[in-house]
Amino acid sequence: MRVALINAPYYDPNFMENIKFVEKYLRILPPLGLMYVSSIIKEHGHDCLIIDAVAENLSKKQVEKILKKYKADVIGFSLVVPTRSQVFDWAKYIKEKFRVPIIFGGYATLYYPEEIASNDFIDYVIIGSARKSLPKLLEALENNLEIDKIDGIAFKKDGKVIINYPKDFEDINSLPFPDRKSLNNNLYYSIISENRPYSVMITSSGCIYKCDFCPMGKFPYKEREVNKVVEEFEKCYKLGIKEIDIFDDNFLFNKERVKEICREIIRKGIKIKWTCRARVDSVDYETLKLMKEAGCRMIFYGIESGNEEILKREHKGITKQIIKEALEITKRAGLKTMGFFIIGHRGESRESIKETIQFACKLPLDYAQFFHMVVKPGTKLYEEIKKEMGYDYFSELLKGNIKMKKLPITWTKLNDKEIKRWVIKAYISFYFRKKHIPKLLKILCLVLKRWYNHITKGNSSLQNGHFASSK
Ligand code: SF4
Repeated sequence: MRVALINAPYYDPNFMENIKFVEKYLRILPPLGLMYVSSIIKEHGHDCLIIDAVAENLSKKQVEKILKKYKADVIGFSLVVPTRSQVFDWAKYIKEKFRVPIIFGGYATLYYPEEIASNDFIDYVIIGSARKSLPKLLEALENNLEIDKIDGIAFKKDGKVIINYPKDFEDINSLPFPDRKSLNNNLYYSIISENRPYSVMITSSGCIYKCDFCPMGKFPYKEREVNKVVEEFEKCYKLGIKEIDIFDDNFLFNKERVKEICREIIRKGIKIKWTCRARVDSVDYETLKLMKEAGCRMIFYGIESGNEEILKREHKGITKQIIKEALEITKRAGLKTMGFFIIGHRGESRESIKETIQFACKLPLDYAQFFHMVVKPGTKLYEEIKKEMGYDYFSELLKGNIKMKKLPITWTKLNDKEIKRWVIKAYISFYFRKKHIPKLLKILCLVLKRWYNHITKGNSSLQNGHFASSK
């Protein structure tokens, strides 16, 4: 079968954690989920084309043209969070033009498979991992077989949505390596990356902590074997990738495993720069020094707030003292630091925001990212909001029963506009300092480059029909 996977653009001002400027200009990330799916599809003998309409800056019409040439039998989309309704607009458009089965996957399917499958322009939903279910579904579609007994999918039958939940959790070690060869890796970057081609990687999934605003604690922690992680590094190296951002929620959770990975990278002479995310309570000098030797150049820490009460209330399990010590150790090990902060926590006040900004400015941080709090399905915070509203907003939105709107912010006395103003103030306070001027210039260059690419679009190899669709 010929399968096209589309990374459709989206922008939802109500549910974006980042301010628009950061989201629009400061990064383009490779669609990692679709890259895994592409490898799974190819492993089973099918042909697959990834169309990254975000990175390639493609319109619906341009994607339609590519699909006409490619002649896809099946088209897939990924829905990471439920509010990306633009992805639905794209799917509707493509369904009208091609009338081939439309398959949806992505994180949102774990929470709302029925709602997603109930849309008439969506034929099948892959619930969670595509590893087992998608090959079976493609085989059934190709050979006109029964799909009723396939686990891990949702579909419509006689006007009713049938849900076959997956029987087991994904074994992260059974996943193939993501299909990086099918993408133009030069298109991806993040403002804090220093080398191109740049890519992202996952070496573990889930989290053992239960912060109230984050859904990741719902998923059990699982790690990929050391040899698989190192092999993926090696593959990236051979492909010419120069920098990798490891997206694990806490790469340092199992330090022995991290040390083994680092030793292997050094032993094999893999010269790639990489960055990772970690909790501040999981660092020690010896591990960080080894990481530095293995090519790590920066660690991103979830600091969240500069107010002890808020850290406690959100069940983050860290204190300001632990944060300070971790950052000092990181700098001593020769690594750069980036802190993630959230403005608009439960019980947040102007005073606690000021405390957070001052704390961020005093810490030995090279970069800081300030998000505003958004409510995500699967979090304790959303459960509270759901109770207050008396209905499940995301569920109704996905079924098309209600329009996109802002959810009431009942957990703080500050309103949405004020929180966003504080986020901008936090960025200005942090970056408009003498030592950050080179970074500001880098940001300006990136914005100009992105804007230039935008107005000169049309260079995509996909648009010119040069897709290297291969098995
Ligand atoms: S914020 Fe970090 S530590 Fe807390 S649950 Fe999420 S991933 Fe885990």
